[in-house]
Amino acid sequence: MKTRKETALGDCWNVEALYPTFEEWEKDFETAKRANQHPIWPEIMGFQGRLSESSQILNEVLENIFSISRQLEKLYTYAHLKHDEDIAEERYKSAFAKISALFHEFGKETSWFESELLAVEAATLKSFLESPELQKYRFYVEKIIRMRPFTLSSSEEKLIALAGQSLMSSCKAFNSINDADFHFGTAKDSQGEEKPISHASYGMFIRDPDRTLRKNVFQRFHKQYADFENTLTELLNGQIQAHIFSMRARNYPSCVEAALYPKNIDPSVYHALIKATEDNITPLHRYIELRKKILGVEELNYYDLQVPLIADFDIKMPYQEAEDIIIESVAPLGNDYQNLLRKGLKEDRWVDRYENKSKRSGAYSSGCFDSMPYILMNYKDLLRDVFTLAHEAGHSMHSLLSRTTQPYWYADYPIFVAEVASTFNEDLLMRLMMERAQSKEEKIFLINQKIDDIRGTLFRQTLFAEFEFAIHDLAEKHTPLTPQLLRTLYRKLNQKYFGEHLTLDEYSDIEWARVPHFYYNFYVYQYATGISAALALTDRVIGGGKSEREDYLNFLKGGSSRYPIDLLQTAGVDMRTPTPVNKAIEKFGSLVNELEKLLGETPQENKPEQKTPAR
Ligand SMILES: [Zn+2]
Repeated sequence: MKTRKETALGDCWNVEALYPTFEEWEKDFETAKRANQHPIWPEIMGFQGRLSESSQILNEVLENIFSISRQLEKLYTYAHLKHDEDIAEERYKSAFAKISALFHEFGKETSWFESELLAVEAATLKSFLESPELQKYRFYVEKIIRMRPFTLSSSEEKLIALAGQSLMSSCKAFNSINDADFHFGTAKDSQGEEKPISHASYGMFIRDPDRTLRKNVFQRFHKQYADFENTLTELLNGQIQAHIFSMRARNYPSCVEAALYPKNIDPSVYHALIKATEDNITPLHRYIELRKKILGVEELNYYDLQVPLIADFDIKMPYQEAEDIIIESVAPLGNDYQNLLRKGLKEDRWVDRYENKSKRSGAYSSGCFDSMPYILMNYKDLLRDVFTLAHEAGHSMHSLLSRTTQPYWYADYPIFVAEVASTFNEDLLMRLMMERAQSKEEKIFLINQKIDDIRGTLFRQTLFAEFEFAIHDLAEKHTPLTPQLLRTLYRKLNQKYFGEHLTLDEYSDIEWARVPHFYYNFYVYQYATGISAALALTDRVIGGGKSEREDYLNFLKGGSSRYPIDLLQTAGVDMRTPTPVNKAIEKFGSLVNELEKLLGETPQENKPEQKTPAR
C-alpha cells in the first residue's frame, strides 16, 4: 500500500486551501490560544453576570462567541483532516490533541451563557429580542429560551452537571468491552479454513456466498455477546437509568420526550414511524419469503439476510467514471447544483479518494464554515464505493448550500435532516443506473441493493426504535430489565418484522446486545425518518416541476435557520403524518414485485394492509 507521501496530489483533498503549510496553522494556533491567559477569552468571560443589563451586551457576547468559535473550527478542521490522512503522523496527532483541548477550554469558558440567559426575566428578554441588532440572532436565542420549562435553578443545574461524568460510564464501559476487550476468535469456512473475526471482517463475512462461513461467523460473533449477557444487560440498564435520572430531574414526562423536546420534534413523529411500519409490514414478509426461495434454502436464517441474491455478479467502476455518473445523476436538481458539484469534485478537490498507509478507514463528509465540504473515503472501484461517494457528495452539497446561504450561526443543519440530502442523491444515482442497466443480472443486482438498503435503514432501524422505546417505557414503569426479558422482547420484534419465513435461533435474540446506538438516547429513528423523507422528496422533485425543485433546494439552503420538521415541510414532506413512511414502504413493495418479475417468479397481488395486533 502507498504511503501518504507517495499518493498523487490530484487524488488528495485540497486541505492546503485552508492553510498552505503546517507552519501557518501553528502560527494561527499560537495566536488563538493567547499564551493561555486566564480567562483565555475575557471578551466573553468579562460579561458573565451582565446579560440582563441590555440588548447591546447580549449582542456583543453572541458576536464574540461566534467569531471565536468560527476561528477555532477552522483550526480544528485542518488538524482533524491532516490527522485522518495519516493517523500515525506525530505532528498532526499532537496538533489535533492541542486544538481539541483548546475547544474544550472554550466550552468551559462559555458554559455559563445559556443558563444565565435563561435566568434573565422573560419580559426583559422579550424586549431585548425586539431590538434591531438582535434580529439576526433571534431564532438562535428563541431555541435556548424554549428550554426554560425544563431548566432548573443554577444550583440544581450545577448538581446535574457534577453527575455528568458518572452518568456516562455505562456507555464508556460498553464501548471498551465492545471495541477493545472482546475477541471474537475464528470461524471455519466450508473448506475447513479458520477465518479471524473482527467487527470489520464480520460485515464482510456475513455477505459471503459461503453459507457455512456465514453461519459459523454469525454464531461465533454473537456467542461473545451471549457469554456476557448479564454484564451487557446491566450496561444497557445503566444507560437507561441515566436517561431516567435526567428525565425525572428536569421533570419531563418520559425519556422519549426528554430526548426529542430540545430538537422540537414531537413524540408523535416517533410513534407515527412505528405505527406506519407496523401497519404495512407485509412487503417485508414477502421479501423474506422471496429471498428464501431464491437462495433455495430450507430455512432462511438471520445469517442469510445480507448475502447478495446474485452471487457471481458485481459492477466495477473506476473513480473518474463514478464522478461522471454521479454528476450526471443530479441533473434533476438543476444546472447550478450540477455545476457546483462538478467544480467541487473535479476542480476544487473536495475528495480524498484512495486508501493509503495509516489513513482513517470509512467515509465521511466534513469541514467548517470557512472550508470546502471535504470528503474522506477509501475508494476501491466497487459499486458500494460509487454509492458512498454519491452519499457523501450529497452531504457536502447540503453543507455548501447551507454555508453559502446562512450566516455562521445557522450554517450547520440539524442531525434529524442530515441523512435526507445524502439518501436523496443515492436515490438519484440508483434511478440513473437502473435506466442504463444493460442486462437482467445488472438490474437484479441493483434492485437487490436498493431493497436491502431500505430494509436495513427503514425496517431495521424502526425495529431498533421500537425496542428502544419499549425498554425505556418498561424501566420508567419500574419493570426490571433482565436478560430474559430483553431476549423475549427482541425475539417478538424479529418475529413481527420478518414474519414466519425467517428462522430465529438463540443467537438472533442477543443481537440487541451489540448495537452501540442504544446508548445514544433515541437516535436510530432518524435513519428511518431520513430515508422516508428522502424517498418522498426524490419522487416529488422528479415528478414535479420548477417549484418542487426550488422547495427542495431551499431546504438544502436552510441550515438550522428553522426547526428540522419545519425545514422538511418547506421541502414538501410532513413527518408528523405517516404518509412519507407509508410511501417508502410502498416503494419497497414495488421493488420486491419488480425483483420477483425479473427472477421469473409470479408477483403476488398487493395484499390488503394487514393489521398487526396491538402490543
Ligand atoms: Zn450520511
